[in-house]
Amino acid sequence: MKKFVCLLLTVCAAALCITFTACEKKSKTAVSEYEIFASYDSENKKLTGTVDFTYYNSTDNEITDIKFNLYGNAFREDATYKPVSQSYTNKAYYAGASWGGMSVEQVENCAGWNIGGEDENILTVTLLTPVYPEESAEIRISYALELALVNHRTGVTENSVNLGNFYPTLCAYSTEGFIECNYYYCGDPFVSECANYSVTLDLPQGYTAATSGKLKNESSADGRKKCTYTLENARDFAAVLSDKFQVVSKNVNGVEVSYYYYSDSSPQVSLTAACESVEYFSSTFGKYVYPTLCVVETGFCYGGMEYPALTMISDELDSDNNVYTIVHENAHQWWYAMVGSDQLNSAWQDEGLAEYSTLMFFEEHPSYSFTRTGIIGSATKSYRAYYTVYNQIFGETDTSMNRNLKDFESEYEYSNIAYNKGLIMFETLRKSIGDDKFTAGLKKYFSSNVYRLASCEDLLGCFINGGNDLEGFFDSFIEGKIVI
Ligand SMILES: [Zn+2]
Repeated sequence: MKKFVCLLLTVCAAALCITFTACEKKSKTAVSEYEIFASYDSENKKLTGTVDFTYYNSTDNEITDIKFNLYGNAFREDATYKPVSQSYTNKAYYAGASWGGMSVEQVENCAGWNIGGEDENILTVTLLTPVYPEESAEIRISYALELALVNHRTGVTENSVNLGNFYPTLCAYSTEGFIECNYYYCGDPFVSECANYSVTLDLPQGYTAATSGKLKNESSADGRKKCTYTLENARDFAAVLSDKFQVVSKNVNGVEVSYYYYSDSSPQVSLTAACESVEYFSSTFGKYVYPTLCVVETGFCYGGMEYPALTMISDELDSDNNVYTIVHENAHQWWYAMVGSDQLNSAWQDEGLAEYSTLMFFEEHPSYSFTRTGIIGSATKSYRAYYTVYNQIFGETDTSMNRNLKDFESEYEYSNIAYNKGLIMFETLRKSIGDDKFTAGLKKYFSSNVYRLASCEDLLGCFINGGNDLEGFFDSFIEGKIVI
């Protein structure tokens, strides 16, 4: 059941591990910057905004065109790639069919722009002049985001407004150019690089915003309020709005951890799980780098969803799954937010690690109802059932772990490969090399890759370079040869 919950939350896969060249090698401040102003119209369920974007060229190439993912456009009626699978449609679209979309109204200070990509999901902006490495250029994008009634990352739920991926997001840059992300319903079809944010939300007075950023300014006038938040060196910025939020907070080693809720009858239990997991992961893997973390109860068709310094937690979970999901999503602050990876092509890299980190947390916190043995047993049982079912249906089962999100047949297959097989691989690795080397490898992976997009090789190298003969071990899992 806990698997069922988490299984649907996040992603990464891969036949090819792309080499990222972007923000990683530059100094901490040499990143692009978003200055976003977004105004929410609660009556029309619409966000209108501007993005003053400073593009910093962290590549080794001269750049003439930059590309942005328009994730919000996946929610339009005629989208080719639907953000919700058929099996989750009723749960997600709680009020029946509903559509949204992201439109770009104008791009200023550029030589031209167009909307394209495979699914009207990419904004391409031609810069006035080429931008050379370590130089920058500024543009302004005016856009609108229509919100569907949907319990998903971007949409109006029954008690809240989920603003994940709510602005045009610069595509990550790889050796093959800017990476265009199609909105596959399996996993988290996002890859982005770290940037600095200043975000001003203009809201009806009665609304409270939980966001990825730290509040800098707040002012009120004419029944509206404007709140400005900042966040540095983060690969995304998200918010959840509600006119029903209550909030409990606690400072954990200098980090303001807040839990926003509207129906949770045990908010202190949820806050405690959030705080304990931040404390445990900080001491086990490395320091949490952002000043705040918001854990937010909201309408969501899966268990939860991670963004930098903000996690969305479904309001439909029972108490055990609520705690499990909070810990899993908080683990993503380390494996996704701070250490990024290719969520399109190697989903196991952050999902498997988030699952295994969750196991480690519960192992050290026996007062909760989850155990190492129980979590491994449940994952193994689920994985074997998947293997048997797929063998019966297809005559064989592809259990390779590095594949694109589009190459998964279903969320069922995806969750068993990215979550369960990923979890089992890390458990087998830990048993093979011992607890000390295992934890040392994860610490090294974190410290060497914080703020970066880490490749599979970056992760596996932290164990292989410890003097362990593990190439064959990893190959057997990732290529799908091992029998579990
Ligand atoms: Zn996850």
